[in-house]
Amino acid sequence: MPEASVGADVPEVQAEPEPEPDPRAALAWKKGRFGRELIYNQLMRAGLSSTDIHRIIDLLTPVYDFRKSHPDHQWELGFDGETAKAFTLIASPTEIFDIDQLDGEPVLARREIEQFVRNEVVRGQIDVSLFGALAHQPQNALLASKLARVFAWDIDFYKDPRKGDRFEMLVEMKYVKGDDGEIFTEYGEVLAARYFGAFDTYDAFAYETSDGEISYYNAQGKSLVREVLRSPLKFQNVTSRFNRNRFHPVLKRRRPHNGIDYGAPRNTPVMAVASGRVVRAGRYGGAGIAVELKHRNKILTQYFHLNKIASGVRVGSRVKQGQVIGYVGKTGLATGYHLHYGMKINGRYVDPLGQKFPPSTPVPKSDRDAFLAHVSTMLTALDGDGRRGVSRSIATLTAPERQEHVAD
Ligand SMILES: [Zn+2]
Repeated sequence: MPEASVGADVPEVQAEPEPEPDPRAALAWKKGRFGRELIYNQLMRAGLSSTDIHRIIDLLTPVYDFRKSHPDHQWELGFDGETAKAFTLIASPTEIFDIDQLDGEPVLARREIEQFVRNEVVRGQIDVSLFGALAHQPQNALLASKLARVFAWDIDFYKDPRKGDRFEMLVEMKYVKGDDGEIFTEYGEVLAARYFGAFDTYDAFAYETSDGEISYYNAQGKSLVREVLRSPLKFQNVTSRFNRNRFHPVLKRRRPHNGIDYGAPRNTPVMAVASGRVVRAGRYGGAGIAVELKHRNKILTQYFHLNKIASGVRVGSRVKQGQVIGYVGKTGLATGYHLHYGMKINGRYVDPLGQKFPPSTPVPKSDRDAFLAHVSTMLTALDGDGRRGVSRSIATLTAPERQEHVAD
């Protein structure tokens, strides 16, 4: 029998064009890190001439701030024998600059690094704080503030959480492929989240309605965006609650406390809890430097004892929800730095923390079926690994199939 040979029935393979040989592959590389020592001295020791070093620094200066150089930032220098041919600056996994033709006319190029996104489930359990519960995650403070923003209208993350509260979220995580595997770069959007608290349970689903608006809704399709923020400070401590019969610490007599006092450092930014119009901005007796805002539904909010008022905030001007209107101080009758935050509805003082404001626009009727299907997909993703309530675990999910990783 003849030996099997390459016959006519084997499809002819089109010869691939020979890939351009990478001139950098043939170089010998020296590597180092920024920050520990002047880059000039490091490159000098690596064998570069003063002229070459200045050319490199001049080329990079428009794209890289040498004053912010950090030991995480790396440099690589490629030699052909004694001659330095190429230089690379790795400022982050997605920010890499190459300089070629160092021995001729140097050219700077930014390397395109492709990121990919994977949706992952992150779970946690509150011991002391949300930040702490996310300590096992990269960039945990950023992730905590993303989650806090999703629930900003319902949960005051500095006051409401209790030990043992649980949460889970499906979040976009971005990576690049590195030499030693995937490198996490940043978070994208929180796609869905649930919070199981001692006080209540909340859920949130990011959804784009057919009119192109992306917003967070609960499983029933009600918007999570409310007309009034729960607190005018991002980080706060309630030091005195609303009390119709309080003994005033400065006046030394009984006087109702028509608001909430938040202890906060001097010049902590104070935000408008809802969009509205400025009706007072300036000195106001014992209230010190004060701002009052008038909102829809006959709601008035007050911000007293400010150190200063933010620029552009004056009587008659409009402010948006979340806009900084002033900074915490102790002007007027105040014993220490704090914000007095008051609220009137229909001209009568109310406890701002006792108010529940109606949610804004729900998912439109025409989007309802699609929305419910979306919620069901998100819930499957969140529940997917069947290990609800397990803290410090991360289930990695790549729709439609699932993989699971447990991070430490
Ligand atoms: Zn007060």
